[in-house]
Amino acid sequence: MADKSYPTGGEFLLSETAPGDAFTPEDFDENQRMFSTTVDGFVDSVIAPVRDELEYKGNTDLGKGLLKQAADMGLLMVDIPEAYGGMGSNKATVMLVSERMANAGSFAVTHGAQSGIGTLPIVYFGTEEQKTKYLPGIATGEIMTCYALTETGSGSDALAAATTAKLSEDGSHYVMNGSKQFITNAGYSDICILFAKIDGEQFTCFIVDLHADGVTIGAEEHKMGIKGSSTCSITLEDVKVPADDLLGQIGKGHHIAFNILNVGRFKLGASVLGGIKMTLASAVPYTKEREQFGQPLSNFGLIRKKIADVQTSGFLTESMVYRTAGLLDKAIETLDKSAEGYDLAGIQMVEEFSIECSMIKVYASEALAFAVDEGVQMLGGYGYCSEYPVERYYRDERINRLFEGTNEINRMIIPGMIMKKAMKGELAFLKAAQTVAEELTALPSFEEPGEPEFMEDEMKLVANMKKVVLAGLGLAAQKFGMGLKDQQEVLADVADICMHAYACESGILRALKKADKDGQDSAALMADMLTLGVHDAMDKVGVLARNVLANTVDGDELRTYAAGLRRLTKHDPVSRAKLHDRIADKVIAADGWTVG
Ligand SMILES: Cc1cc2nc3c(=O)[nH]c(=O)nc-3n(C[C@H](O)[C@H](O)[C@H](O)COP(=O)(O)OP(=O)(O)OC[C@H]3O[C@@H](n4cnc5c(N)ncnc54)[C@H](O)[C@@H]3O)c2cc1C
Repeated sequence: MADKSYPTGGEFLLSETAPGDAFTPEDFDENQRMFSTTVDGFVDSVIAPVRDELEYKGNTDLGKGLLKQAADMGLLMVDIPEAYGGMGSNKATVMLVSERMANAGSFAVTHGAQSGIGTLPIVYFGTEEQKTKYLPGIATGEIMTCYALTETGSGSDALAAATTAKLSEDGSHYVMNGSKQFITNAGYSDICILFAKIDGEQFTCFIVDLHADGVTIGAEEHKMGIKGSSTCSITLEDVKVPADDLLGQIGKGHHIAFNILNVGRFKLGASVLGGIKMTLASAVPYTKEREQFGQPLSNFGLIRKKIADVQTSGFLTESMVYRTAGLLDKAIETLDKSAEGYDLAGIQMVEEFSIECSMIKVYASEALAFAVDEGVQMLGGYGYCSEYPVERYYRDERINRLFEGTNEINRMIIPGMIMKKAMKGELAFLKAAQTVAEELTALPSFEEPGEPEFMEDEMKLVANMKKVVLAGLGLAAQKFGMGLKDQQEVLADVADICMHAYACESGILRALKKADKDGQDSAALMADMLTLGVHDAMDKVGVLARNVLANTVDGDELRTYAAGLRRLTKHDPVSRAKLHDRIADKVIAADGWTVG
């Protein structure tokens, strides 16, 4: 914790971050921007010509060829270490590739499964032999890979898997039986990162050859969206898996499963951010062209509000996504790259930030859900028709709240991990919670505020949001003890407050950094988005916090805490209409996404 040279996961709740220490999209270097251009080029030249075939005819067979073309442009090797034919890029670059790849629609999911969950278990947990055997081929697209955790009977409860593996008498191979469900890219993958229980007990990870005898790939699922991505079941009947293809340690499959999900979650955040930008790029020009009542839709206050709100929640999403990428990179940079076990240590760093990974997953996927819903609304009836891409964005968005751990499961992880870190002494949460509880029950002070500096008011509100997390979770922990894990509504409300605090703080740090570098005028749009975003968030935090209290204490105790809470969540009204107007002006002028 304190002796570490980098901030750890969840620490944002207890400490302040200097704006200069927060990574922002404005910090991308030439090399990273080049990646972005490469992905854009791939989407324009390779995906655009087959878009209809993929998205509307649901031709999932195209996936394999498209992956090969992505590999030829270097887009499958970003996350693979240089020693095994990859680029070993940092997390910020990986996130940027995921963000830009969102423009590839269904193929973004195909690409994510191959280059992320299908590859990273080998990168992080593979032996030297396994890495040498598989990674170069995965990087060049000669080996297609997928990841099979889910089964018909075990989705969120992944460790309840029924697939079994039994070691042969001579110890040369395992005999595997069972069935996996909803496996992305299973239709054409060569290998699969697959989880099974040895002797029905020890949850373990394997690399399974999908061309082996006894493997049957089911028919493609008929899905609501991402229709061009392959999703099939995999059935295993007495499949022989060489003992050398056991990945990681026997009985430690959950380490692989959960750590890879953490990576999937922050990459998903970047991908859905791309979706928010795509939605604005489709909807905003439409609102300028379409006229009703003798004027463009973009003149109407309620349409301008939608544009401003989508842009603002996208800005907060982007700020938290890349701030987290910077945190991960900073932590990973402290490792010795030449040391044995460097890759494994890298994934342990990611695990330290599992709170942030889950926050990004939930916040970003719900920001996209909001964006596509408003996107359809901006287009009216045309938004409901497949002639316009927002109809597809609306359907494609839905999966993001389901996979990589449903949003319910991720909401439980956020406070769960905070408490776990607190109990292990990795986060000085309990002491801080006690201090805030004392502040809440003390008499109020009546300090006269002076003239606020740039973003000072917003920063104070965010500091108070963090106090609400500390007070709410601290109180709930005290009241429910070990039973806290069963108080799902309380935990979910705390998770939401936590996300608002992190998202808003990330945006503020970004605006302050921008203002420090280029002057306050350059951050004027960011400042407007933050005033709007922080006030909106604080309104929600007020309601969430009241629920946490009322679900935790009652009687006089409830009244005392509620009074303290009112002080913490108090904020002066702002004219949202004026803010919406100013933000919408800039977004409309830019024909979509802009931060200034
Ligand atoms: C298109 C697609 C692609 C996929 N790709 C892959 C893949 O490549 N590999 C893979 O392994 N899996 C994949 N999945 C599976 C996906 O990860 C699971 O669908 C997801 O984990 C949820 O599991 P489930 O569908 O069994 O839902 P369930 O676990 O049955 O959940 C149903 C509902 O109950 C809620 N719920 C469950 N448990 C709790 C709890 N403890 N507390 C509160 N609420 C709870 C859930 O949040 C959800 O709302 C994919 C799924 C789809 C649809």
